[in-house]
Amino acid sequence: MTIQDILNQKGTRVITIEPHHTLYLALATLIENKIGALIAHDHAGTLLGIITERDLMREVYKDTDLRAVRVEDVMTRNIVTGNPDHDIEYVMAKMTEGRFRHMPVLDDENTLAGIISIGDIVKAKLQHVEEEVTQYKDFVTLDWRAS
Ligand code: AMP
Repeated sequence: MTIQDILNQKGTRVITIEPHHTLYLALATLIENKIGALIAHDHAGTLLGIITERDLMREVYKDTDLRAVRVEDVMTRNIVTGNPDHDIEYVMAKMTEGRFRHMPVLDDENTLAGIISIGDIVKAKLQHVEEEVTQYKDFVTLDWRAS
């Protein structure tokens, strides 16, 4: 199973924020969209960073004034990305190694083509196992009827 297979199911929409926006707007955007990460980009659409709920939690813990600090002051700039042809084992390995739960996907032209979260991976894996169980059950039923 590849990143493309997951994007085919979940879609390619990525919710973004501009680097000069405040942490408060980032938090509001995460909550309103029920997501855990936002991609920061410039006006040309170039990927500049990622900010996740974990980054915001850290700032809340530090008592940061969320209305006074900008996304660019907190976001991670060194982003690990995937491409649509990568298989999900690659994504899982990178997430485990880097201890993060979101991976932006770039296509061959380096354009943002989607985002994969650890939740998407778990969902895809579960679905795959369920399909396999159904296939085995069908096989056993057929085999039993044929005998
Ligand atoms: P997460 O587990 O995705 O909430 O992120 C944990 C930390 O890793 C945060 O500081 C994020 O900004 C950072 N992070 C999230 N996704 C990525 C990624 N694909 N590449 C690099 N850093 C990331």
